[in-house]
Amino acid sequence: MKNDAHDVSRRDFLRRMGIGVGTAVTAMVLDPFEGMAETGRKKKRNGVGQTPDSEPLHPSAGMTYRIQHGTGDRVSLLGYGMMRLPSRDRQIDQDMVNQEVDYALEHGVNYFDTSPGYHGGRSEVAMGIALSRHPRDKYLVATKMSNFNRNDWTLERSKQMYEGSFRKLQVEVIDYYLLHSVAGSMDELRGRFLDNGVLDFLLEERKAGRIRNLGFSHHGDVRVFDHLLSMQDEVHWDFVQIQMNYLDWRHGKSSRNTDAEYLYNKLDKLGIQAVIMEPLRGGRLANLPDEAAKELRERRPDDSIASWAFRWVGSHPNVLTALSGMTTMEVLKENVRTFSPLDPCNADENALLERVADSVAGFPTVPCTACNYCMPCPYGVDIPGNFAYYNKAVDNHLLPLPDKSAPEYAERARQFAEGYRQTLPEAAWATKCADCEACLSKCPQKIRIPNQLGRIVELTRKRR
Ligand code: SF4
Ligand code: SF4
Repeated sequence: MKNDAHDVSRRDFLRRMGIGVGTAVTAMVLDPFEGMAETGRKKKRNGVGQTPDSEPLHPSAGMTYRIQHGTGDRVSLLGYGMMRLPSRDRQIDQDMVNQEVDYALEHGVNYFDTSPGYHGGRSEVAMGIALSRHPRDKYLVATKMSNFNRNDWTLERSKQMYEGSFRKLQVEVIDYYLLHSVAGSMDELRGRFLDNGVLDFLLEERKAGRIRNLGFSHHGDVRVFDHLLSMQDEVHWDFVQIQMNYLDWRHGKSSRNTDAEYLYNKLDKLGIQAVIMEPLRGGRLANLPDEAAKELRERRPDDSIASWAFRWVGSHPNVLTALSGMTTMEVLKENVRTFSPLDPCNADENALLERVADSVAGFPTVPCTACNYCMPCPYGVDIPGNFAYYNKAVDNHLLPLPDKSAPEYAERARQFAEGYRQTLPEAAWATKCADCEACLSKCPQKIRIPNQLGRIVELTRKRR
């Protein structure tokens, strides 16, 4: 419940900050499901390094699709991430979820991604309710083994989580199943999946046909990524989910320890298709600094800033689908428009985005993607909301503050503090942080959350 409350406050906040709002344009589509593989279809497994068949980028006037190598699934290039569902009165707004899912299916989106960890397990339930109103062969479900808590590391507890996903999603077969967020370290990988027999169990489940495609999502330590891929001959990963966008392509190393370019190219070389998360880097690439945004608008006046990031991701042929957490109908409609069909970036546009990335990387922002994994904070701090405000202030050149002796220092400090108080409710302020460190291990971006919040406390204290 508390989590949803934070979702609401952050959404309102983001709206006030002008993040993530687009125009509503309905795309004309042909039958999006024609040729889509039936659920439970027998798997054909490609060997390492084989080049798969793939559908052209422009298959029709509607949604763009990619063909999954092994199963032949026809997967919409825009995938629906169910991490940030619409909420009302601290509850998921099921009516709105139903409406958005209906719209998505009607306009060709057929890949829906969730996890037992999203919305405290209620995302799977909401997605199950919304999707089960449609024929099962019209959609693909993706969910995860989210056994983050050490108490869930046993085979028995992990199996309970796995079986729970089938019940909540109301399905007999899971189309895409992932080891969730293999992030922290080799020790965590062994503890959660290898030594306890969880991976062996999931491989058996794939053999039995209850899982059609098995993969993992990677958030952090590149040694874990490399190790999992070194197991390809025995495991045969069907897909891998990575964080990729035009900023992380060559500037991922600064906040994490790998560039997306390395991750994508390695998967491409091995013939493993990539599912993309954070194509907008948590909204950062929908909300660029003014100078960068101006340049993009001049180039394509009718397009949103966010559409550039989606087009860039979708232009990579080894991308199976790009996930977007579409909380509002407006954003869903805009994204459907961008992918119906996808207009790939040309060489000039790629060069422009590379320059934009170089300039954005120079801004001293907090690399928060608003993934929400750190929430809820037991003391009520809206962690991603605080970082979104801070980052916006950096983009607007309010931060970093100049030297105290500079004439504009006092005015900029006042503007930062006043805007902060107007944007976030007091219960969510960084001052509420009690340094309990409960959030630290949950952040896939490895942000030192209490330290960063401390900087915000310092900045707001000046004018309180
Ligand atoms: S360290 Fe601060 S922000 Fe993190 S969970 Fe504890 S109180 Fe919340
Ligand atoms: S601080 Fe980390 S865990 Fe929390 S929302 Fe941001 S990226 Fe996600």
